[in-house]
Amino acid sequence: HIPVIAIDGPTASGKGTVAQKVAQHLGFHYLDSGALYRLTALSVLRRNTPLDDEHALAKAAEHLHCHFNGAHIFLANEDVTNDIRAEEVGNMASKIAAIPTVRQALYGLQLSFRQPPGLVADGRDMGTVIFPHAGLKVFLTASVEARAQRRYKQLIDKGFSANMEDLSKDLTERDARDSNRSSAPLKAAEGAHLLDTSAMTADQAVEQVLSWYAS
Ligand code: C5P
Repeated sequence: HIPVIAIDGPTASGKGTVAQKVAQHLGFHYLDSGALYRLTALSVLRRNTPLDDEHALAKAAEHLHCHFNGAHIFLANEDVTNDIRAEEVGNMASKIAAIPTVRQALYGLQLSFRQPPGLVADGRDMGTVIFPHAGLKVFLTASVEARAQRRYKQLIDKGFSANMEDLSKDLTERDARDSNRSSAPLKAAEGAHLLDTSAMTADQAVEQVLSWYAS
């Protein structure tokens, strides 16, 4: 039995940071499932694949030549760690993520991250669809303001330009799209612990998740 901790939540809710720190603390593997949708998005953006060509989009997801090395993410053999964080790529990721065949194409790849001694997986449907039997499920939320602040800082730190007004609008649109799609919509899994991180540091959120895991 290989334990899984599923951490879901809306964009910029802090789940990436929290999930990575929890994984580090427990010595578990880490799955950034959003990165798989972003990698697919980057690959279709580069090939100019039209959004209505579902077959080509699903093929791109199915034949994603990616690998993860520590904090670095590669597409074919190119380091795209920073490129996939661009807002344009995130928005495209959210559009293609609404297509069931794209989600299906990434299913097996996500399961393969479950390796001993355990896995911390973050995304939108880790607790609802991919790892419904996870021993611990957490749903992170935070106010739009707190999330826009975090995303702003992330983007500026990575050398992108950003402004708060556009970011808040982007976040709200992306949340609506992720929550209202028919295939694996963003929602708290049954039995998930809810955690509002608006007024919390990442370390406080990590402590809370670890204490749930221990109990
Ligand atoms: O988490 P992140 O912002 O990197 O994810 C990018 C997009 O990928 C999300 O807006 C969402 O539409 C999609 N996604 C998803 N299911 C996941 C992870 C991400 O639909 N498990």
